[in-house]
Formats: sequence, C-alpha cells, structure tokens
Amino acid sequence: MSWINPDFPRTATPTSLVGRVLGLNPGLMTGPGTNTYLLGRRDPILIDTGAGVPEYLPLFEQYLSERGWSRPSRVILTHRHRDHLGGVEQLRGRYRGLAVAKMIHRDTELPESIADLRDGQVVEGDGVTLTAVHTPGHASDHLCYYLREEKAVFTGDVILGGSTTVIPAEDGDLGDYLASLRRLQGLDLERIYPAHGPVIENAQAKIREYIDHRLERERQILAALSDGLDTIAAMVARIYAEVPKSLHPVAAQSVESHLKKLVKDGRVAGAGAPGAPSRWTLSG
Ligand SMILES: [Zn+2]
Repeated sequence: MSWINPDFPRTATPTSLVGRVLGLNPGLMTGPGTNTYLLGRRDPILIDTGAGVPEYLPLFEQYLSERGWSRPSRVILTHRHRDHLGGVEQLRGRYRGLAVAKMIHRDTELPESIADLRDGQVVEGDGVTLTAVHTPGHASDHLCYYLREEKAVFTGDVILGGSTTVIPAEDGDLGDYLASLRRLQGLDLERIYPAHGPVIENAQAKIREYIDHRLERERQILAALSDGLDTIAAMVARIYAEVPKSLHPVAAQSVESHLKKLVKDGRVAGAGAPGAPSRWTLSG
C-alpha cells in the first residue's frame, strides 16, 4: 500500500483519551496528511494544526460536535514546519483567543502570540498529562509529547507510520536525531502516535527499527567511500538503485546528513569548491 493512502480515515478515535482529525494535506512528504490529535475527556488539547487546508476546519468542527465538544482548550505544536503549524491562523479565526505554544528555538517567522514550551514542561488536560520532550534532528525545535496515562508518545515527525524521517540539510542534524531516538527508547513506552500515518502499537520495536535503519545506511555510505565513490550523486545511485529516481533528491539529503554526521564524528572529510559537487573521503 502506498504511503499516500487515500483510504486513510479522515477522523478516528483510537482511545477514550485520544481523537484524531486528518489535516487533508496528502503528499509525498506528508503521506495521507498530517494527523492532528485531540487529547482529554473534555476541553481537548490539540496537538498540531495541519497545513491550513480550507476543508480541514469543517471536518474538525464536525468531529468536535460528534464528541460533544465546542472548542479545543489550547494548541501545542510539535515543530515549526508548515504542515504542523500552518493551520494556526485558521483555528484562531474560528476560536477567539486560542492559546498556542511550541518550543521557541531558532524561529525566524512565527504567527503572533505563540508561547514558549520547554523540555520537561508538563501540559495538563482533562484526564491527560503530557510532558514535552525535546527531540531535535528532523527540526531543531522539535518536541515530542509523552502521555503518561497511556505510556504513549506523540512523535511528530521523529517517527512516522509508514516512511522514514527526512533530515533536512539546513535545520536537521542526524547525530541529534539518533540521540533523540535513544532518548525516546528510554521512556516507559507502549504506543506511538505519529504525525503522519497510523498508530504504532509496538513502540520499542519501531524505535529500534529506526535506529537500525540509520546505522545500516551509515555502513553502506562508509562502504561506498571505501570503494572510492566520493560524490553524493554516486553514492545515491548505488545505495538507492532500487528506489524511483523521483525520490533521489530526498535520498541525496539523507546521504548528506549522514556525511555531515560522519565528519562530526571524525570519520569522514569533505571538501567542495563553490558551484562544484562536494567530494568526500574517509579520514585517516
Ligand atoms: Zn516536519
């Protein structure tokens, strides 16, 4: 089944404490679209807002009324990417005075009046206790939210249901990302609610799989370097030979993120002249 699953439910109620409304923004990077989650028995807390797609608001209101709710109590965001905070203005237009919070960190442009949330801070709703967990790597401002009552974590884009996470060149950092996965491993965890794709029940196995996937990729890149492949394009052509060419630009970002991590680790050296492809070699 494709990652962009057109049959993915538009709304769902996975448990008595967790409801889900789809952001209706399907795509190569978002899969079926962004999941927005409503937490609590009453006065629900909303995690993420989707991209601001016009059809989202009527769907959101319909789901609220099905649950007997009139409005969200507040919004907390996982990170600054448009498909997570793009719906803030739309929701504020509908629900006056709606409070919104995220970790304010290296942000250049944000909607007005966003409160700061820090690592370890607790957000309480009706029957739900959420703890913010700073998990940089995909984005430097990324927070996951741990739901104590269910031993569950809302992973935003750190772990996805059906795809691997992109580590963007500017704000991403693969070393940070692996550290964030290891931090999640340390939580008392049973379930993952990702920002894209279905609920993941075996949380620890999924985190392990994500770490193993990155370590395997790292081994492939080191092998390519030792065989004398010294450009990202050459490494992508070999390592992603089975993957459609349309995904190679994303693959190139991933390889670059690995190379930067290996440079930080002291295992690889990189050099590039302006306008020319950078060249990479094993160190020492
Ligand atoms: Zn993102």
